[in-house]
Amino acid sequence: MRNLQLTLAVIVLFCFTACSNNKPPLVEPELKEAKGPNIILIIGDGTGLSQISSLWYAENTPDKPNYERFPVIGLSKTNSSSHKITDSGAGATAFAIGQKSYNGSIGVNKDSLPEQNIVELLSTKKYNSGIISTSSITHATPASFFAHVVNRSMAYEIADQLPTSPIDFFAGGGKQYFMRRPDKRNVYQNLIKAGFVLDTTSIDNDLDGQRQGYLLADDGLPKMSEDRSDFLPKATKRALDFLGGKDEPFFLMVEGSQVDWGGHDNNGEYIVTELVDLDKAIGIALDFAEKDGNTLVVAIADHETGGFSLAGTPVTGFGGVVKDDYQDITYRFTTGGHTASHVPVFAFGAGSEVFSGIYENNKVYDKLLQFIP
Ligand code: MG
Ligand code: ZN
Repeated sequence: MRNLQLTLAVIVLFCFTACSNNKPPLVEPELKEAKGPNIILIIGDGTGLSQISSLWYAENTPDKPNYERFPVIGLSKTNSSSHKITDSGAGATAFAIGQKSYNGSIGVNKDSLPEQNIVELLSTKKYNSGIISTSSITHATPASFFAHVVNRSMAYEIADQLPTSPIDFFAGGGKQYFMRRPDKRNVYQNLIKAGFVLDTTSIDNDLDGQRQGYLLADDGLPKMSEDRSDFLPKATKRALDFLGGKDEPFFLMVEGSQVDWGGHDNNGEYIVTELVDLDKAIGIALDFAEKDGNTLVVAIADHETGGFSLAGTPVTGFGGVVKDDYQDITYRFTTGGHTASHVPVFAFGAGSEVFSGIYENNKVYDKLLQFIP
C-alpha cells in the first residue's frame, strides 16, 4: 500500500513537472559565492599584542584603530619545526605551505624540499595573486609566497624565482636583487619578459598590464619616520583595484615588515609609527571586504619581536622607593630578538569564524583555504 502511494506520488510529480507547461524548468540563479572568496592575508611582522595595544595609548594614533573592526579573534602558536622561537622565514613559510619548517626556510619543508605554496595552489583554481611589503620583496616574509630556497639569505636566488611564479601584482623594495647584480643577471628584464609592467619611482604611477610590479627602493623601503609616506595603504588600494577588477577571485598578502625592525631596534616610536601605517592598510582591506561581501580578511603576525611591553614609568617616591607610575606608559623591551609568545589573529568576512580559538600557525593555511575545493 505504501509503495503504491509512493508510485502514485512520483507519477503525479512527474506529470506536474513534465506536462504542466512548456517553459524550461526553473534554474537556480548562479550564486555569487560560486566564485571562491577573495583572500587578503595581512602580516604584521613582529606584531604581538603589546605592539597592537600601543595603537590605543600612543600619541598620533587613530581614535579607533581599524583592528577594532574585526569581529573574530584567535591566537596563533608561533614556534617553528626547529625552534621554540621562530624567525620570519619559518613563520611566513608556515602560512604559505601549511607546514611548520625550520628557522630560515623559505617555501621549503623541514627536510628542505620545496612545497607547493598557497599562491601556486590557488593559481590552479583560477585565482590571481599579489604581494606587498615595506621590506625588499625578496625578504623572508614576501619571499615565502613565491620562492623556494633553503635559506632566507639567498636573496638573489629568491629574486630569480619571481618572474616564473604565478604572482600578478607586487609592490615593495629590493631593486638591487633584480638589476645591477654582482652576477650580471638582469632579473628586471626577466620580469618584463614574463609580462610584468614595472615602475621603480612611485606607487602613485598608474600601470597598464596584466602583471604589474612596483620596485621602489634598493633594499627595504624607508621607515615611516623617514618619509615613506602612504606607500603601504596606497599599494594595498592599488592591488585591490587591480586584482578586485578581474573576473577571477584573488589572494593578496600585505606585510607591514618594519614593526619587527622597530622591535629589533628596541624603538617604541618606530613600532608605533609602522603600526599606524599598517592599520591604515587594514582599513582599506576591510572597506573592500565590506563592500565586496565575498572576501576574507585575516590580520596576523608571524611572531612577537622585542619582548615589548607597555609598562608604567618608574618614579622615585617617598623614601627613595621606586614605583611604576600607572598613569604614564614607558616602552620596555626584554630582548633585541623575537619571543615565543602566541600572537593575535584577527578575521573578518567570508569564513572568518574558523579563526577563533588557539591553533598552530601552519593551520592558518587550512583555514584560509577552507572554501577552496
Ligand atoms: Mg618580514
Ligand atoms: Zn625579526
